[in-house]
Amino acid sequence: MSQNPPDLRPDLAPRATLPTDARPGQPRIGMVSLGCPKALVDSERILTRLRAEGYAISPDYQGAEAVIVNTCGFLDSAKAESLDAIGEALRENGRVIVTGCLGAEPDYITGAHPKVLAVTGPHQYEQVLDAVHAAVPPSPDPFVDLLPASGVSLTPRHFSYLKIAEGCNHKCKFCIIPDMRGKLVSRPARAVLREAEKLVEAGVKELLVISQDTSAYGTDWKDRSKQAGQEIVELARDLGGLGAWVRLHYVYPYPFVRDLVPLMAEGLVLPYLDVPFQHAHPDTLRRMARPAAAEKTLDRIAEWRAICPEIALRSTFIVGYPGETEAEFQTLLDWLDEAQLDRVGAFQYENVAGARSNALPDHVPDEVKAERHARFMEKAQAISAAKLEAKVGTRQQVIVDSVDPDGATCRTKADAPEIDGNLFIDEGFEGLAPGDILTVEVDEASEYDLWGQRVET
Ligand code: SF4
Repeated sequence: MSQNPPDLRPDLAPRATLPTDARPGQPRIGMVSLGCPKALVDSERILTRLRAEGYAISPDYQGAEAVIVNTCGFLDSAKAESLDAIGEALRENGRVIVTGCLGAEPDYITGAHPKVLAVTGPHQYEQVLDAVHAAVPPSPDPFVDLLPASGVSLTPRHFSYLKIAEGCNHKCKFCIIPDMRGKLVSRPARAVLREAEKLVEAGVKELLVISQDTSAYGTDWKDRSKQAGQEIVELARDLGGLGAWVRLHYVYPYPFVRDLVPLMAEGLVLPYLDVPFQHAHPDTLRRMARPAAAEKTLDRIAEWRAICPEIALRSTFIVGYPGETEAEFQTLLDWLDEAQLDRVGAFQYENVAGARSNALPDHVPDEVKAERHARFMEKAQAISAAKLEAKVGTRQQVIVDSVDPDGATCRTKADAPEIDGNLFIDEGFEGLAPGDILTVEVDEASEYDLWGQRVET
């Protein structure tokens, strides 16, 4: 298994919550959804289509007539986890259809599990449905099996991921996603907006915009007449007009990102940017073949904060990348000191089968990687603690994620679900429900979380 903590791995998605209502005799399909939020969106689309065709979704292996396993192939550890999940589904159910990123390597799957019924690759929705039809014929009842307005959502109803593009045109050496998911294909803005409108009509209060490279949205369109970056700015503005919180993930620090930040200052889009910097030393970034490797990232950050002082910045980093010297790592620590990011995750570098970085010279020994990771996280934690302490006494708008007898678990605008921190309300939370948005005065902070009291506005 990976030595990276699970909550910091981009290949892990929020846990799925499945609708499980079934009428007598209705064909039932199970789904195991592994992987990142992008894979979760694929699972939601497949299940939505299946529901529309009259299938019910089974919450367990025993109740399903076949099981779809949506796999992840991001890291070797994720591939092993996917093979384990396929093996478990075969043992427990016996009729298994494999899809997702690892489906791009069918021989790898059938070599380990020759009894799977079918293997399809990422976003091959039609092929997955064909395989399901072959395994379990549909039996729709047109009066009963109406597609819910919002489709099937695996995330809680008050927030939803919104995928705006597939694939990626970059070739970062540690990443095999372009090999698995192909080149960038942006969804038409009209289709994205229509999906977003339906989600908001169905009660979604927060839209989480995702893709491999969100700032590249629309740059693959042939008939484009706009300057680079204007497509994502226009889409973000239109999404912001729908009245829900809009949060942008996986935004690379290109110069035109400055045009997105005024939308945050205006309140149209949440003042939150998830920017995967990965490193700060120019030589390491060049060895990674990162997009925007030559950008002066500290200048960019200063520019964004000048436009929108409340902006929260989240990022992920790789420590111990092949050839990373102590001096390069120290540059990263110094950069972090200056950048004062709000939320930070870090991986220890791992080889991934098929990645070009495997062949780079001077791999960093595991114990050095672990030691650098600990130093990095210590600094990141101290920065986070100081930033959260500074929020004590302030008023924050929060969204409620869940309520139980002990209190309400909420998030501020600076916190994305699953990956960032929480704000807890321990008193006076009666009557609150998931999706409620309210104002809270912060009265306590830890390294990653806040506590607060409701205030009337
Ligand atoms: S930008 Fe780089 S890391 Fe991100 S998906 Fe594309 S190739 Fe992979």
